[in-house]
Amino acid sequence: MTYLSDLNTKLQYKAKVRKTKRLTPANTEEIREIMIEVEDPGFQCKVDQSFGVLVKHDSDFGNEYHHRLYSVADIPSKENGKTLLTMLVKRCSYVDEFNGELYHGVGSSYLCDREVGDVINLTGPFELPFKIPEDKNSNLILIGMGTGIAPFRAFVKHIYADVKDWKGKIRLFYGAKSGLELLYLNDKDGDLTSYYDEATFEAFSALSPRPHWEDPISLDAAIEERAEEVLEMLSYSNTYIYIAGYEKVKENLNKAFINIMGSKEKWENRKAELIAGKKWAEVIY
Ligand SMILES: Cc1cc2nc3c(=O)[nH]c(=O)nc-3n(C[C@H](O)[C@H](O)[C@H](O)COP(=O)(O)OP(=O)(O)OC[C@H]3O[C@@H](n4cnc5c(N)ncnc54)[C@H](O)[C@@H]3O)c2cc1C
Repeated sequence: MTYLSDLNTKLQYKAKVRKTKRLTPANTEEIREIMIEVEDPGFQCKVDQSFGVLVKHDSDFGNEYHHRLYSVADIPSKENGKTLLTMLVKRCSYVDEFNGELYHGVGSSYLCDREVGDVINLTGPFELPFKIPEDKNSNLILIGMGTGIAPFRAFVKHIYADVKDWKGKIRLFYGAKSGLELLYLNDKDGDLTSYYDEATFEAFSALSPRPHWEDPISLDAAIEERAEEVLEMLSYSNTYIYIAGYEKVKENLNKAFINIMGSKEKWENRKAELIAGKKWAEVIY
């Protein structure tokens, strides 16, 4: 496991905000798609990586900079020698349990407040654990929630646009609190839906049963509804499971896999095999 404090923040790059667009409607959680351009050719970022954003911030712990990571949300492209990168950022906030005050996440608020032309400080790139298997017959179960769709969007687009001829099954389970927050899988900005034509790709969405109650998104139910296929995929040695998103959903996912496999022991053994074979990866935040 890599900790933020282990990452190199000495090497920094300037990036300019090229576009910033709110993807979710006004009365829901704010998630923005932000495109930045990096002029320095020394900064090379790939689909299976993240990068850091440094925000000048005086904290109680004496840190001069607040450092947070964001996943690459689209295939990085080049224009006039500049690298164009897209990220998805959810504006985070939390209520302090002791004094009941609302605090705004430092990094995400900073990014969501940036305007076109603003310059930000980047670090990285850093590796994400989601690697594209060399064998195109591999099966992939991708489970993302909220901004956890970001790495998988880049990943799926890269597989069908650049790697090509993928033979294994790709099943994307994606969850959001409400239908309006289903990024890239809706009528307005549904670019992932274009891969529905690919024989190997299917995407399934799940929503939160009670979006205003902070209930976890029912990704577990979406997966259990496809228990037969998931079980079949789990019986193959070339199946990978990648998970990106929020801690809250992890426990329910575990229960769903236990139900699908038939017992806790069976799932623990299979999961241990996946981990040992480097076929299990998760980024939880
Ligand atoms: C590999 C990786 C990839 C990531 N990719 C993305 C991505 O693509 N998009 C994205 O939006 N995010 C992503 N994240 C998460 C992102 O790095 C930040 O963690 C997120 O934006 C919140 O940072 P912040 O600075 O806004 O919030 P912070 O200021 O760090 O605070 C936010 C959170 O800290 C907790 N917290 C802090 N202090 C308190 C307190 N006093 N009381 C209670 N709770 C507290 C709360 O849970 C709160 O929600 C990723 C994280 C990792 C590790």
